[in-house]
Amino acid sequence: MTRVFNFSAGPATLPESVLRQAADEMLDWHGSGMSVMEMSHRGKEYMSIHAEAEADLRELLAIPANYKVVFLQGGAIGQNAFVPMNLYRGKASADYVNTGEWSKRSINEAKKYGTVNVVASSEPSGFTSIPKQDTWKLDPNAAYVHICSNETIGGMQYHWTPDTGDVPLVADMSSEILSKPIDVGRYGLIYCGAQKNIGPAGLTIVMVREDLIGQAMPITPSAFDLKQQSDNDSMLNTPPTYAIYIAGLVFKWLKKQGGLKAIEEHNRVKAALLYDYLDSQTFYSCPIAKDDRSLMNAPFKLKDESLDEAFLKGAKERGMLQLKGHRSVGGMRASIYNAMPKEGVQALVAYMKEFEASHT
Ligand SMILES: *Cc1c(COP(=O)(O)O)cnc(C)c1O
Repeated sequence: MTRVFNFSAGPATLPESVLRQAADEMLDWHGSGMSVMEMSHRGKEYMSIHAEAEADLRELLAIPANYKVVFLQGGAIGQNAFVPMNLYRGKASADYVNTGEWSKRSINEAKKYGTVNVVASSEPSGFTSIPKQDTWKLDPNAAYVHICSNETIGGMQYHWTPDTGDVPLVADMSSEILSKPIDVGRYGLIYCGAQKNIGPAGLTIVMVREDLIGQAMPITPSAFDLKQQSDNDSMLNTPPTYAIYIAGLVFKWLKKQGGLKAIEEHNRVKAALLYDYLDSQTFYSCPIAKDDRSLMNAPFKLKDESLDEAFLKGAKERGMLQLKGHRSVGGMRASIYNAMPKEGVQALVAYMKEFEASHT
């Protein structure tokens, strides 16, 4: 068996030990005689898996007691609709910051449910930097302020937390969740799809301050009503049980790595290996402002685009996959989530040097 270095932006690489444990437990989970996939979601075995996953997530992120954790389906794209449906709360408008492709998707979806004010945008910089907070035109009466804290496609990440006063801050954290400690208490609601940094696609996690729950628009589907789901401990309908089980194993793996402070340090080392190299030469370049570069998704371009195919082919031959940038931006992108080992980034940088040397 050979495992590749998988630089995919999502679904993405998972810790090998987690996959091994899942394989070991596939046919018979802890003597139950069943796979987790086959268990009733209301049975005591599955209920214990579910409760432990939530408890470990709460511990990792130090989630305050007045926040609910809800396990849903529908992905972050689903949340683009659920957030306005649940959080407009009768208010006239919501504020959105546009930092790239995922922000735009959120903005366009929210417009179906209410008035959206784009209060700041990265557009003037060609989506290469995050607008400084003092340029944001926030509305103190907005229902909430929405940001995408890590733009997976563009490769920009907030390395600071916006201050939105009494207006709840909402963040799409799909591609950075659990990569570093965050102060959950500064957000009204955080959502993420699991398939970047947590586990299999199909699970969506929402963390929400309790006082924001319970004023969903009447049209809100029951399955996506935060009150109905949180009142039922995410079991209003059948939750994505197997995905939650794998997420739970990943949470245990993170605790074993030393928690989020330790994983952040690891992520900083990995990203620095790549960005320091990118800044040290001119064959490749990274367009993103240094202060706003993502530690999770590093976009870069070859000076001579006609070499892109050869670069990707050589990478593949060396067991490094999924380095092609998103079709909307071109070039390359290396996604280096929690589960990407340092060796993967070292191998990539060594290959980049080798490719440069043989093409100049
Ligand atoms: C991947 C991603 C999405 C899309 O999530 P789905 O699970 O496909 O709905 C949305 N936002 C961000 C920031 C992402 O990285």
